[in-house]
Amino acid sequence: MSARKRSAVTKRMIKQLTSAAIVIVALAAAWIFGGEGFAPAVQTPEASGQAMTVRFIDVGQGASTLVSMGDTHILIDAGENDQGEKVVEQLKAWGVTRLALAVGTHPHSDHIGGMDDVLEAFEVDAYMMPEVAHTSQTYESVLQVLEEKQIPVTYPEAGDSLTLGGMRLTVLGPEQVEEDDLNNCSLVSRVDSAYGSVLIPGDCEEPSEAAMLKGNRPLKADVLQLAHHGSNTSNSEAFLKAVDPQWVVIPVGEDNSYGHPHDEVLQRVERLGYKAYRTDWNGTVTCVMDEKGIAFYPEKEP
Ligand SMILES: [Zn+2]
Repeated sequence: MSARKRSAVTKRMIKQLTSAAIVIVALAAAWIFGGEGFAPAVQTPEASGQAMTVRFIDVGQGASTLVSMGDTHILIDAGENDQGEKVVEQLKAWGVTRLALAVGTHPHSDHIGGMDDVLEAFEVDAYMMPEVAHTSQTYESVLQVLEEKQIPVTYPEAGDSLTLGGMRLTVLGPEQVEEDDLNNCSLVSRVDSAYGSVLIPGDCEEPSEAAMLKGNRPLKADVLQLAHHGSNTSNSEAFLKAVDPQWVVIPVGEDNSYGHPHDEVLQRVERLGYKAYRTDWNGTVTCVMDEKGIAFYPEKEP
């Protein structure tokens, strides 16, 4: 990226941030900042009697995950450019009118391609992304809508957490960002409810996993969305064991050119005894966490 380009993007972000400063101050009050190298205890929200529902939306080769409790909705990623309308229609069909938070884990198009459509279609209280710029048209389109709609943007750090309704979102990674390594810039979030937790790591790869392990981040979660569509450049044994989920869900497109999910990872998952769902075989996978436990409702059986 040229210096001129970087400066234009930065100026726009600053302008956008300034104009949204009041909202950001209000939002910041809800954040708790973890100290450097300090692993905060897992903070489980109190039972509200409401279920937390996690929907791993089938967006082909890409990822889009909706985490909801009552009227509070968090959308993490929105699939490729051509999946935006589908994600919008799905959310509307599930009764979503407003997003408390939208997260773009990293600037690749299979994660934020559909995000401009989503940001256009709904009221969005806040947008979260890693502090790394990208030059693609897809990324520019997202910035444009954020600016047009004056949606407050935050760039969280590992250790930050935010309470939304009866849910608590904790950012576990990345420990650092590098512009030439976008996958490892992926925001890694765990969302906790009184009845269970889900970890959504975007496309983070082994270096980011190792950094989170070294940083003693509290990775344990009941459900894990496999990193990077089940790639063998992610989902190391050490990372999986630290998360220690009972279930994994793989957001992946049928016959994708990357060979995701990789056999080696599927074998690791099986050996560790986790039950796996995948969106290419199961369609949209819905997980409900409530006082009865954790249950999965795949759209279809393979
Ligand atoms: Zn991806």
